[in-house]
This record gives sequence, C-alpha cells and structure tokens, in this order.
Amino acid sequence: MTQEPTIFDKIINREIPADIVFENDNVLAFKDINPQAPVHVLFIPKIRINTINDIQDNQSQLIGQLFLAARDYAKQIGEDESGYRVVMNCNDNGQQTVYHIHLHFLAGRQLNWPPG
Ligand code: AMP
Repeated sequence: MTQEPTIFDKIINREIPADIVFENDNVLAFKDINPQAPVHVLFIPKIRINTINDIQDNQSQLIGQLFLAARDYAKQIGEDESGYRVVMNCNDNGQQTVYHIHLHFLAGRQLNWPPG
C-alpha cells in the first residue's frame, strides 16, 4: 500500500530543514517547530509507522531505541535529574496530527499533570 509522505518523511530525506539534535541508523530527533516547553524534541523512527496501533511485535527494539535516545539526550542536555516528559499521541482523541509515530520529549520547566 502506498501512502503519502508525511512532513517527517521529508525531514528524514532532507527535503525540508529541521534542527536535528540526534541521529543514528534507526532514529532521528529534531526540535519541534511549535515548542510547548523550553526543550521540545521529537524522536522518530526512520521507517514509517503511522500510529502506535501499527507497531508490530517485532519492532519492540526499534521502539525501545526511541526511549534510549531520549534518555541519553536528557543526560546530554543536563535535564535528566530535574526531569522531563516523554509522550506519544495516538489518533484523534490523542491529538495526533502527524501520522508517523514520534516521541515528544519535553523539558526545561515544571510540566502540568494531568494534561488538559
Ligand atoms: P502530534 O500532534 O503528536 O502528531 O505532534 C506533531 C508535532 O510535530 C507537533 O508538535 C508539531 O509542532 C510538530 N511539527 C510539525 N511539523 C514540523 C516540522 N516541520 N518540524 C518540526 N516539528 C514539526
């Protein structure tokens, strides 16, 4: 099944610019264009997975790599001890807008809970 590329495919392929903060063979991370905290970075797999619902059982290592990259980034920028939030939205009720899974990484201020 072919599907239209998302904005994130274009960032992966360097067709549009992004402020990239981390990259390895499987994961790319870049600053969110509309930051909701002083630090707001998106960690994405380089392969297209539309939503959490589409994650396959054999992709658990790849999903784990998103978290490990976020963990390392928190330490690198010195936010690991003060704390941060990672969140992945799914479909309409989760307010997902880009259908290529991404882990939001938010840090740099006291975050509210529960979210609105
Ligand atoms: P979500 O609503 O969970 O799907 O999150 C999508 C996120 O992608 C939003 O926080 C947007 O601000 C962000 N976003 C959309 N386009 C870009 C872009 N070109 N570069 C960086 N972040 C983007």
